[in-house]
Amino acid sequence: MKKFRLLTPGPTAIPEKVLAKFAEPIVHHRTSLFEAQFKELQSQLQWLFQTKEIVLTLTSTGTGAMEAAVANLFSGMNASTPHADEVITVNAGKFGERWTKIAKAYNLNTHEIVVERGKAVTIAAIEKELRAHPQVKAVLFQASETSTGALMPIKAIADLCKKHQVLSVCDGITAVGIFDVPMDAWELDVLITGSQKALMLPPGLAFIALSARAWKANESSNLPKFYFDLKKERKAQEKMQTAWTPAISLVQGAVVSLKMLQDEGHQKLFATHEMLALATRNAATALGLELFSDAPSPVLTTVKVPAKFTVDEGKKIAKIMQEKYGVIITGGQDELMGKILRLSHFGYCDIFDVANGISALELALLELAYPLELGKGVAAVMKTFKDSGLAL
Ligand SMILES: *Cc1c(COP(=O)(O)O)cnc(C)c1O
Repeated sequence: MKKFRLLTPGPTAIPEKVLAKFAEPIVHHRTSLFEAQFKELQSQLQWLFQTKEIVLTLTSTGTGAMEAAVANLFSGMNASTPHADEVITVNAGKFGERWTKIAKAYNLNTHEIVVERGKAVTIAAIEKELRAHPQVKAVLFQASETSTGALMPIKAIADLCKKHQVLSVCDGITAVGIFDVPMDAWELDVLITGSQKALMLPPGLAFIALSARAWKANESSNLPKFYFDLKKERKAQEKMQTAWTPAISLVQGAVVSLKMLQDEGHQKLFATHEMLALATRNAATALGLELFSDAPSPVLTTVKVPAKFTVDEGKKIAKIMQEKYGVIITGGQDELMGKILRLSHFGYCDIFDVANGISALELALLELAYPLELGKGVAAVMKTFKDSGLAL
């Protein structure tokens, strides 16, 4: 009997307790029953985001919250505004490219910084764009670029934005709840996450918080918005309601999964993810695999497909892992297809899940005649865990 194990960057595995919650009868959302749960969720989300601001819950995937950020902060050209707002987007991979596409879809004057795949954007590159375009209103970036596994210099970007008095708009979809991104302490203006990543839920909810400065920008934003009108949402959510019918079951599940995260505590949560990432990197090195990113994120580890493999053979690695061993990882997208493997280690994932993943990887590589000593990667995983001194 094959057991499936998700080591993917969303959706991630869902804890049994959360799944059990979905079996409960649904409540109506315009009732005190829902409001009590929503109140609980709001305070949990503030804990998660490390913010005093209200964290809005949207019924959409993470991309919906990205679109909401753009539609609610900026202005397009019309009779009273002769120019569309200017923004800088950091395209360090598929998700950064998405910022560019959204900004362009709203006809913003978009200055895109294209970063070499696998690298983190440099502060110098952003500063250069800011100097070249003094009218820029915001920098849109990822905390961790999931398509390449690169970690961005988040705090330094927030500091730079503050210095230039522009908004820092951070897609923290694979960051929040995995490593430390304290929204208020770092003075980020927008922070976003989604349900199917660190929150250990099915896809369907997105979360977004705005700083006072961002809410001020919202006052003058003239871009069209309806479903994702954040001012309308805030008004409703301040009263423990939502503008539209929320994904009620997911809200109920979120209260349970966030309680699990709160029980761990920020420190343990972040230390564990650091350790899982280190264990994966050590396993890769022990197997003679090369890391793809030189700024590896604690979210997922990207490794290069060994040079002796063709692109088709590269694609086969994940296929064998899934079809034979039930371990689901992701490969590269677009130009990285067949060239990298992405091993995710966040959400409902512990050191033994990582060991499972590495053992399936070893077997798949062996099948493709890659020379390795079976168990060497797994041993590195176990050693890293033991040396960390962390408990489960
Ligand atoms: C998953 C993800 C998203 C959102 O994708 P959806 O498919 O809309 O959930 C956005 N940014 C990053 C960095 C992600 O990892």
